[in-house]
Amino acid sequence: MGTIFLLCCQVYIYKFTKHYTRVKKQVFKRQSPTMQTTEKTEPKILELKTRLSEINDIEAAASVLYWDQATYMPPGGAAARGRQLATLQQISHSKFIDPAIGQLLEDLRPLEKSLAYDSDEASLIRLTRRKYEAAVRVPAQFMAQFSMHRTESYEAWAAARPSNNFRLVQPYLEKTLDMSRELANFFPGYEHIADPLIDFGDYGMKADFLRSLFADLRQQLVPIVEAITSQNPIDDSCLHQIYPEAQQLEFSLKVLEHLGYDFHRGRQDKTHHPFMINFSVGDVRITTRVYENDLGQALFSTIHEMGHALYEQGVNRDFEGTPLAGGTSSGVHESQSRLWENMVGRRQGFWKYFYPQLQATFPTQLGDVSLDTFYRAINKVGRTLIRTDADEVTYNLHVMIRFDLELQLLEGSLEVRDLPDAWNERYRSDLGILPETDTDGVLQDVHWYTGQIGGMFQGYTLGNLISAQFFEAALEAHPEISQEIEQGDCNTLHNWLKDEIYQHGCKYTAAELIRGVTGDALRIDPFIRYIRRKYGQLYTL
Ligand code: ZN
Repeated sequence: MGTIFLLCCQVYIYKFTKHYTRVKKQVFKRQSPTMQTTEKTEPKILELKTRLSEINDIEAAASVLYWDQATYMPPGGAAARGRQLATLQQISHSKFIDPAIGQLLEDLRPLEKSLAYDSDEASLIRLTRRKYEAAVRVPAQFMAQFSMHRTESYEAWAAARPSNNFRLVQPYLEKTLDMSRELANFFPGYEHIADPLIDFGDYGMKADFLRSLFADLRQQLVPIVEAITSQNPIDDSCLHQIYPEAQQLEFSLKVLEHLGYDFHRGRQDKTHHPFMINFSVGDVRITTRVYENDLGQALFSTIHEMGHALYEQGVNRDFEGTPLAGGTSSGVHESQSRLWENMVGRRQGFWKYFYPQLQATFPTQLGDVSLDTFYRAINKVGRTLIRTDADEVTYNLHVMIRFDLELQLLEGSLEVRDLPDAWNERYRSDLGILPETDTDGVLQDVHWYTGQIGGMFQGYTLGNLISAQFFEAALEAHPEISQEIEQGDCNTLHNWLKDEIYQHGCKYTAAELIRGVTGDALRIDPFIRYIRRKYGQLYTL
C-alpha cells in the first residue's frame, strides 16, 4: 500500500505480538500456487482482495495528493490539501476496520492453515489480520484528532525552526507526547511503552533489545570515531565549488538509469526534503534536492531514494493492490537505500567507472581533481551537528541520541521543556560538539513534529546494520560483484536483491527475511567489519 519514505508522516498500525518465525534459506526458493488459482476455488479470498484493492486505491490517491503537495502545489493549496488528505485517510481507515473484513479473515482461517506459511494467500491473510487487529484497537476519533494535531504541530515546527524558537513548538510537542502514550496504551501488555510504537515501523523489535544492541554498537564505534577525528581532516573542498543545477540533475538521471531505476515506472522531481513514494508497483517516484555549492547533496540523496525505489519496483506484481506490496519494515527499507547510497555509491570501484563521466560533466571544477581526492572527499568523517549530512561512521551516534531521548520522554524521566538541554548535552558527550542553536539541534528533524514520539528513529540504524549484513551475503554468493561494479555493471547485485529481498514485499517479517537471506539473526559485526575495512584504508586505525 502507499508508502512514503524519509518523511514519516503516516502512522502505520501493526499488531504488537511476539510472533517470530524462523525460516530456512530454501523456503524462499519454493514456488507457491498463484493467487489467481486459489481465487477460483475460494471466492472469499477474492472478496478480501477486492476490498483491500479498493482501500489501496484510496490510499494511493492520497499519496498522489501528498506527492503533489511536496513538489508542485502552490502554497495557497495547503489548507484544503490537509483536509482532503484527512478525508481520504478517514475513508480508507473506516473501510479497513469494517467488521466484514474481520469476518472474512475469520472465514479464511481454514484456508490459511491448509496452505504453506509462505504461500501468497497464507501470507496475505496473515499480514492483513495483523494489520486489521491493530487497526481496530485505535478508535477512529483518536486517529482523526492525532492527524489534525500533527498537521498543526508541523506548521508550528515550520515556523519555529527558522526562527530558532523551540518554545513555539513546545506545547505541541507536549501534546504529541501525551497522544503518543495514549496510542501505545491501545496496545496493553507491552514490556516498554515504546514497544508498540516501534512495532509500527519495525515489527517485532523491542526497546530493551534495541537499547542493548545500540549500546554494543556505540562501544565499538566510539574508539573508531576517536581514532579518525584525532587525525588531519580530509580536504573535501573539491565538492564545494559551484556546480550548476541543470548539470547536477542531468548527471543524477544518468546514474539512476545506469543502476537500474526503471523510468517507465518512475520519475524524479525536486523537493525540499527528498523522499520516495509509490502509488503502485508500476509508479514508484523519487525526489531530490540540489545545492549548487555542495555536489554531494543531490548525488547521494538521489542514490539513497533510488535504493528505496528499487525495492518497491522489485515487488512481485501479483501483490499489487494488497498489503503485501511494499517494503517489510523501516529497517529493511532503509537497508536498501543505505546499501545503494554507501556500499555502492561511496565505493571506490563505483567511481572508477563513473568519475571520468562526472569529470566530463564538470571539467572546470573536477578536471584537475584526482579520483583518489574525490573518493576521499565523499567519505570524509567528522563530528558534525546534522544527522542527514553525517558520514557513515558517525551517523549511528546521531540516531542513538534521538532513540534514547524518545525513550526518556515516554518513560517520563525527561520533560519536553528540558529536551533542548538534554539534546545539547548528548551532542557534547557523544559527539564532542555543541549545537549553537536549536535550529541545528533539537529542531533539525521533522519526525517528532509530524509523527509520534517513539519508534521514529531506530529504523535508520537498523538499516545500516542490515545493509552491511545483506551486502556481505551478496558478495559471498557472487564474489564477482566487486569487479562488476568497477566496470559499471550492477546487474548481478540488483538481480540478487530482487530475488532474495524485493520480490517478497511484506511476505516475511524483517527477522524472517534477514534469517532467510543471511542464515543468521540481525548482527552488528558485518557493519563493524565494513567500517573497519573501508575506513582503515582512508585513515590510520
Ligand atoms: Zn531512507
